[in-house]
Amino acid sequence: MKPALFQIPVAKPLLNELEVEAVRRVVLSGWVTQGPEVAAFEREFAEFVQADHACAVSNCTTALHLALRAVGVGEGDEVITVSHSFIATANAIRYCAAIPVFVDIEADGFNIDPDLILAEITPRTKAILCVHQLGMPCNLEKIVGIGRNHGIPVIEDAACATGSEILWNGAWQKIGAPQADIACFSFHPRKVVTTGDGGMLTTANAEYDQKFRLWRQHGMSVPDTVRHGSKQVIYEVYPELGYNYRMTDLQAAIGRVQLARLPALVAQRRHLAELYREGLGNIPWLETPAEPSWARSNWQSYCVKLPPWLDQRDTMQALLDIGISTRRGIMNIHREGAYADKSSHRVAASHLARSVAAQEGAVILPLFAQMTQNEVSFVVEALRDLCIDRQAATA
Ligand SMILES: *Cc1c(COP(=O)(O)O)cnc(C)c1O
Repeated sequence: MKPALFQIPVAKPLLNELEVEAVRRVVLSGWVTQGPEVAAFEREFAEFVQADHACAVSNCTTALHLALRAVGVGEGDEVITVSHSFIATANAIRYCAAIPVFVDIEADGFNIDPDLILAEITPRTKAILCVHQLGMPCNLEKIVGIGRNHGIPVIEDAACATGSEILWNGAWQKIGAPQADIACFSFHPRKVVTTGDGGMLTTANAEYDQKFRLWRQHGMSVPDTVRHGSKQVIYEVYPELGYNYRMTDLQAAIGRVQLARLPALVAQRRHLAELYREGLGNIPWLETPAEPSWARSNWQSYCVKLPPWLDQRDTMQALLDIGISTRRGIMNIHREGAYADKSSHRVAASHLARSVAAQEGAVILPLFAQMTQNEVSFVVEALRDLCIDRQAATA
């Protein structure tokens, strides 16, 4: 075998001396967990997405847990969501002892099909948890409309969507404004900006924000920052069950640098996605992801649907053999062992055929800010060659 021309990872965070300097500053300050850096990161994030409130937490999974609890999801309640998502989406529902109700995705994308939601609403439905999958905004206008009509809160799993935008009431807004009731973000290295691990909740509801702040720190009535600065002795109390879901100041310092980079990162990702669209658009057998006129994706991932005669594993291996890393389509939560017990969830009567097809028949291609035009061309050409080769083999 020839040596690979390129070694192209599927994703790669952009971190450099600026982040190192930020962490150094925090280490030497002596205050290393949830403190002034977290507060500053929250202010800057709120300003960026134009949210009233932003609360930083340890990751997006804990953010989802707090969001669901804040809107009152509890034991035996149902939450309408998708199976075609990272497992954390549904796990957070189960942390509330509630039941995820899985509906299918749209025919022409990887997001929840809003037209399937209505049929699954029951008296036990306490929330809709929609996902902006791969960074592409889901159809919030329809989903929020359904939620408002039925008095059901809508939570956005915006783990992948930091920097994505949606046309809302005639103007472009950042995801997280929030357009629904609460939006939850992830800063895992696989996302567009990272703090190692980290998460953020945004909301327009001050009561929700107060709950997040209480619960993320053991339900403690007085945060460390207040006690530390006080000239008076303060005894804290613990009125409610809380958790340790804090973000550290080390993470927040990195997050502030990453947030400043975000507009440039998104612009570059959108440029690369456009190159993919142009290149792959000339390969008639592949289906490239469509961006609705009301959405601007941050292209956290670029996922293409393969023709039926192109086997997913074979495609991924052939690309890996020449140095191109890919990932299979988004998992289906209901097909995992953790969901083998049928009482753990409910599958919509409309079934999940598109979710299954997307898991088995789509491939996520490399896309990261440092990726070059040559690397995009190399991936495009490799896919074209493979399509021609495998089609000839099946003919
Ligand atoms: C990554 C991801 C999560 C989990 O985020 P963490 O910060 O790793 O907890 C949740 N939902 C979706 C859709 C994700 O992609």
